[in-house]
Amino acid sequence: MKKIIPILLFTLLIACAVKQKGADGKSGQDGKSSEKIDISANDIKTSMEYLASDELAGRATGSEGIEKAAVFIENYFNANDIKPYFETYRDNFEFKNRRSSNPDEAIKGFNIIGMIEGNDPKLKNEFIILGGHYDHIGQGKEVNGDKIANGANDDASGTIAAMEFGKYFAKSKTNKRSILITLYSAEEMGLKGSGHLAERLKSEGINAYTMINFEMIGVPRASDVSMAYMSGYKRSNFAKTLNKYAGEEVVGFFSKASEMNLFMRSDNFPFFKELNIPAHAISTFDFTNFDYYHHVDDEADKMDYKHMASFINKMIPALEGMMNAPTKEVVLKDE
Ligand SMILES: [Zn+2]
Repeated sequence: MKKIIPILLFTLLIACAVKQKGADGKSGQDGKSSEKIDISANDIKTSMEYLASDELAGRATGSEGIEKAAVFIENYFNANDIKPYFETYRDNFEFKNRRSSNPDEAIKGFNIIGMIEGNDPKLKNEFIILGGHYDHIGQGKEVNGDKIANGANDDASGTIAAMEFGKYFAKSKTNKRSILITLYSAEEMGLKGSGHLAERLKSEGINAYTMINFEMIGVPRASDVSMAYMSGYKRSNFAKTLNKYAGEEVVGFFSKASEMNLFMRSDNFPFFKELNIPAHAISTFDFTNFDYYHHVDDEADKMDYKHMASFINKMIPALEGMMNAPTKEVVLKDE
């Protein structure tokens, strides 16, 4: 079963995808985007080596290190023509961290939000939200004199994926719907940043269609399973829709994700809760392929840049197809 059906299905999907693309391989609305923009492993590595560097000291919310990470992302947005969605790139909030030694102290956090406007006069009023958390835990249990938890996989990898998607669509201008690139702070303190943003967008009456949270995509899974998996897989037809446009099963089901209820444990959840839209996390970390979760050795040199580039490149046509479909075909369903 497992081996035969996917092969048949994929052959059909690939055949469909080839048909849809047309003879010239152009996928944009007006065909202007025939130039292929490649996401490079080198660009990803450059961003990673800064975001996960010791200089940023583990990017704890409220620290100097996360301020540096925020400035880096803002400069990246600015250099790549990703516009602010609010008055500036920053979405500020304050919260109290009940888990800290000083639970009454107000901590200042800021999400970084960029926008790429859609190219269709009607569909551009609908938003696709892509994101990941750029904060991390600061310090971890000391190993060989190292206390800095660099958070390369968690979640500089997802942050960089979202940044690369932003760069791609700001350049290709192939998205009919508008895109928000949303990088959250204070995920590690209880989804505070994404919670704040989801509430703010709801109060402003945003017309959001879907949301994807990229969480730990820095290392590959085993070769006999789908490249990535989606949390809350059965809550919508999102994964199937993405795979249809990817022409292969890039995003699959992972039983441990549902056993551990990962759907509710990361930044996608507030968007589902507040906006009632399909909002899921996509990950390639499966608890067996990386030993350094919340460990001081979660560092840039442990990341697989070829894998990251390959994942991001495979996601582009999947996202593009989903963003540009004439109707909102991704829908929630009862689990
Ligand atoms: Zn994380």
